[in-house]
Amino acid sequence: MEIFAPFELARARQLDATDALPARRDDFHVPQHHGADAVYFTGNSLGLQPRDASEALSTELNDWAQHGVEGHYMAQHPWVSYHERFTDGLAKLVGAKGNEVVAMNALTVNLHLLLVSFYRPAGKRTKILCEAKAFPSDQYALASQIRFHGGDPNVDIIEVAPRKDGHVIEEGDIEAILLERGDEIALVMMGGVQYFTGQWLDMPRITAAAHAAGALCGFDLAHAVGNVPLALNAWNVDFACWCSYKYLNSGPGAVAGAFVHERHVGDDAMPRLEGWWGHNAQRRFLMEPEFESMGTAEAWQMSNAPIFNMAIHAIALDQFSSAGMNGLRSKSLRLTSYLEQGITAVAKHNKAQLEVITPSDPARRGCQLSLVAHGFGRELFQALTNAGVVADWREPNVIRMAPVPMYNTFEDIARFVHILKSATQPH
Ligand SMILES: *Cc1c(COP(=O)(O)O)cnc(C)c1O
Repeated sequence: MEIFAPFELARARQLDATDALPARRDDFHVPQHHGADAVYFTGNSLGLQPRDASEALSTELNDWAQHGVEGHYMAQHPWVSYHERFTDGLAKLVGAKGNEVVAMNALTVNLHLLLVSFYRPAGKRTKILCEAKAFPSDQYALASQIRFHGGDPNVDIIEVAPRKDGHVIEEGDIEAILLERGDEIALVMMGGVQYFTGQWLDMPRITAAAHAAGALCGFDLAHAVGNVPLALNAWNVDFACWCSYKYLNSGPGAVAGAFVHERHVGDDAMPRLEGWWGHNAQRRFLMEPEFESMGTAEAWQMSNAPIFNMAIHAIALDQFSSAGMNGLRSKSLRLTSYLEQGITAVAKHNKAQLEVITPSDPARRGCQLSLVAHGFGRELFQALTNAGVVADWREPNVIRMAPVPMYNTFEDIARFVHILKSATQPH
């Protein structure tokens, strides 16, 4: 069939061989399916393991074995200042200054710590504006923070939903709510890239609208960091947090990250939960009773660093630094549009109703496409899985696929297109 010509394997391999940014697939362990690489489209859920991970981990284990407690100072990467390894890489990834970022804890933990500082309901201004159907952990975090302050989540959460029969959240609707009810809203808190639909919200536009209404604005970047280019400092975002096991390939449960805009980092009047790793590093071991803030995003850091999982985070971030987020983004645009064309071709050929609910405008999405396979049930997902596709399935019939530019290839996508074609063939 002519429409499948672009998806012939030889053609796809040629695209891989001549692309401006070759996939770094050989730097990763790719799960195997019947002796061949699986089509791994779940880097949005758990990124692949960098091949250097076990060596990076061994370095720390050996330093611990050799030096014991002295490893805090004697290790190849001294543990006492280990978190500083991430400052430059994270700042570049999220478009921040070094004093605005810190690697610490886990994502939901960081969201709570930042909400302690940035959700301060007062007087009439008690509400949080968020996206409808946010990731459950974020919903629980927001609702429990509201209850912690004596509020009622049923009253104090305002959700923006896609318009009727649509899947895309319109930024204009967010602005309209802020114009109408802005004086009730303390905080606007959203996913930068929506985990379910893959929509990339216009973060600077939302931040500006929040500020114009007198509210603060924060983002959960779990699906944005390492996926789309970010400029948190320039966009004036107040705070953000993210995890590093999705697009950042740092391993299950890996250390998360946080951003606090520089206009807030020195504000000691702001409520904050504190610990000794947020204390002035020069005086940390003087064991003084009074907290003296680091005066940077590190002021939110409470505990000494989890070295073993950070060892992997460090090499994973190095891969982003050397590939460059701009190059990755342009590769990502090529891969995702190729996948989209493939899905369209299959739908047409098989007269199947395969609806991509991710925005069709590439500027409003990252690499992920979310597909609703109308008229198909879980057996479709099973057929894909049996053929070696690792994607993710959300009831009743949504398939999320993330071709990630770091290691996915045009060949992965071409193979997927042929698998999808036979799995949706009319009987
Ligand atoms: C993946 C994800 C989480 C997971 O939270 P953890 O604290 O890392 O378990 C939370 N929120 C969003 C939006 C996510 O995509």
